[in-house]
Amino acid sequence: MFPTVPRIVMKFGGTSVADIDRIRAVAEKVRKQVMSGCEVAVVVSAMSGVTNRLVGYCQSLSALHDAREYDAVVATGEQVTSGLLAIALQAIGVDARSWQGWQIPLNTDDAHGKARIGSINGAALIERMRAGQVPVIAGFQGVGPDGRITTLGRGGSDTSAVALAAALKADRCDIYTDVDGIYTTDPRIVARARKLNKITYEEMLELASVGAKVLQTRSVELAMKERVRVQVLSSFADGPAPSEGNLPGSLVVDEDEIVEKELVAGIAYSRDEAKISVRRVPDRPGIAAAIFGPLTAANVNVDMIVQSTGADGLTNMTFTTSKSDLARAIQSLEQARDIIQYGELVTDDDVVKISVVGVGMRSHAGVANTMFRTLSDRNINIQVISTSEIKVSVLIAAEYTELAVRALHTAYGLDAA
Ligand code: ADP
Ligand code: ASP
Ligand code: MG
Repeated sequence: MFPTVPRIVMKFGGTSVADIDRIRAVAEKVRKQVMSGCEVAVVVSAMSGVTNRLVGYCQSLSALHDAREYDAVVATGEQVTSGLLAIALQAIGVDARSWQGWQIPLNTDDAHGKARIGSINGAALIERMRAGQVPVIAGFQGVGPDGRITTLGRGGSDTSAVALAAALKADRCDIYTDVDGIYTTDPRIVARARKLNKITYEEMLELASVGAKVLQTRSVELAMKERVRVQVLSSFADGPAPSEGNLPGSLVVDEDEIVEKELVAGIAYSRDEAKISVRRVPDRPGIAAAIFGPLTAANVNVDMIVQSTGADGLTNMTFTTSKSDLARAIQSLEQARDIIQYGELVTDDDVVKISVVGVGMRSHAGVANTMFRTLSDRNINIQVISTSEIKVSVLIAAEYTELAVRALHTAYGLDAA
């Protein structure tokens, strides 16, 4: 038997590779991991700000640009970083080679702009790693069935990294970013947020899906399905290369690996929300189908829904979508006005969704009530509520975001000592 060498996927996000000095620092981190006796594959994001700029170019030429060409443009950010990091590694004596999605290949479906990964052929990468070379892989991109470049949706390099970790049978996927782990809430808005040493896949999945952008939702979904061990840690901290006995960041794990379960694991907020009220609709069977049918046909994702009926037999249907879907939602509802027969359409995109998440909610009542009481004590009006087994979300006016998150963080006893 050969002794097994640990295999690690290291992923570096935009701020971690923001400029040439940062890329040098990342190369040094990779070198340390290699020197600690691991096989290493690296996944990189575009340098911070680059993807936004490229998206802006596409939008300014045409709001309804071709999604294939959008992918051809925005995938270039990661191509640049992968080449630069390979050069930086070679310059300090580490054998390295850049890889684009199509070269691996990392195959996806044809949903340009938000493609899903199908299969990854890890054979060539494994061969190189065994020979002592570090593959530096452009994250966020793959190749579609027609051979064209695809991208995986914003924040998609996390998903590239987790998918590669699964394909390469890596022992761990280390996600290096600009904070030193997963916190009870966004440490940028709550100074007393507490770092979690461990969090369950389920809780992280729920937190990501309601707005905690530290990991892309799909990356957590994939990690859970493929049983990939994921660690989130800082690329800005010094220190030795992480090893199984010394993991400085936050680990995403199975529920049974956590001994002391908290009632609430974390709080997230999403500003990417818009509220639509379809008012004064005759209350009759089929009205929900009449409203949501056209929205589905227009590819609008609806999230929270509430219906309220007055004594006059007219009903109001209020729901939320993402800000980017708002214009399309309005257009399709206006087109269906004769069928729905609503009195008026009112929209508001100055709203935020605040969510509390925790597996402890399954067995404890009262989490929702604490949320409602805390917000009412601060005079914050709740506009829409939705719940799932391990989550409660409310929609409130955007101006109260920080106040609400901080008050809830204290109310659930999450503040750091
Ligand atoms: P990267 O460019 O490395 O992918 P992102 O900006 O996508 O980094 O994600 C890191 C950011 O996620 C942090 O800077 C932090 O503001 C934010 N964040 C939101 N919620 C959390 C949370 N619960 N724990 C840690 N960071 C969070
Ligand atoms: N560069 C891409 C983005 O900004 C992917 C990523 O960073 O994960 O969305
Ligand atoms: Mg990210």
